[in-house]
Amino acid sequence: MILVLDPGLTEEQQQQFCLDLQRKGFFTRLVNQYGQLLLSIDGPDEEHFARSAHKISCVREIIGGRHPYFLASRRFQKTNTIINVGQVDGKTISFGGNNTLIIAGPCAIESEETAVELALRVRKLGCNVFRGMVFKPRSSPYSFQGLGKAGLAILKTVKETTGMLILTEVRDLMEAEMALEFADILQIGTRNMSNYQLLKHLGRLRRPVLLKRGMGSSLEELLCASEYILSHGNPDVILCERGIRTFEQFTRFSLDIGAIPAIKELSHLPVIIDPSHASGKSRLVESLAMAGIAAGADGLMIEVHQNPQNAFSDGTQSIDPDALAQLLGKGQKVAQAIGRQLV
Ligand code: PEP
Ligand code: MN
Repeated sequence: MILVLDPGLTEEQQQQFCLDLQRKGFFTRLVNQYGQLLLSIDGPDEEHFARSAHKISCVREIIGGRHPYFLASRRFQKTNTIINVGQVDGKTISFGGNNTLIIAGPCAIESEETAVELALRVRKLGCNVFRGMVFKPRSSPYSFQGLGKAGLAILKTVKETTGMLILTEVRDLMEAEMALEFADILQIGTRNMSNYQLLKHLGRLRRPVLLKRGMGSSLEELLCASEYILSHGNPDVILCERGIRTFEQFTRFSLDIGAIPAIKELSHLPVIIDPSHASGKSRLVESLAMAGIAAGADGLMIEVHQNPQNAFSDGTQSIDPDALAQLLGKGQKVAQAIGRQLV
């Protein structure tokens, strides 16, 4: 159950109210955000308490029922959240409006020369956000693990040279703090979606977060993970459907296209898709991307490499800049058919 409290309560009064409820056996969590003071309470006696809670003077509203996530829900906010991630050429780039944004770049940063060259090429095609990972959570400890700190310096050069916005993955607080210097969006990968301590830290950092769905997670689990970030002070969460594990072996994962309209019904947060990690095969990327655009995704994240056969990681699912150009041309038509714009 959620209690909407009088926002004029002093800190001391808030603490005292929580303490009283804890003494009654409730677990309490106070969220003071978006100009609202919300108190989530959880305990066996909730329903009994709810019947008399309206008599407590500081309680403005009682939102009954089960709320594993609330700030992320449409119940909390009806209108779509629009997340401004930065400016490119004086234009504000935002997720959640009427544009479908492209995030393009290599799976991993390999060298300054290749990163800058690729960034200039995708920038020329109209992409504003560059992805490039330097901290790679690989399934095998023997696979390329990313360039680490040296890779961050390369991303900084990419940003300075091209003016593009930068997205990169972080796996712990230390990496997040290092990347904060210039990364415009911090990614939480599929393997860390349930790393709740990390999510809480990112809640405190106030930098837009791209939160990827755990490969074995339900939409409710994804939205609960986003709630950890939101309820710790960061309202800027972009969700990403990147394929889930099913019995199908032909594709690397199964892209859950239904997740896009489902999330849009359940939540006000923007949602994008990653057709590269879902398909695992470069020749399938375009079709999945079209499906994502048609389903109303707020963006696409695509792995691009000048020379996919020689990529240090995920070459089989990376497309080259020419294939990206073709994808963008087709994608623009699909986007326009549903009243959106690919940018
Ligand atoms: C990535 O985007 O580079 C990545 C590793 O994705 P995921 O966490 O979805 O596997
Ligand atoms: Mn990859």
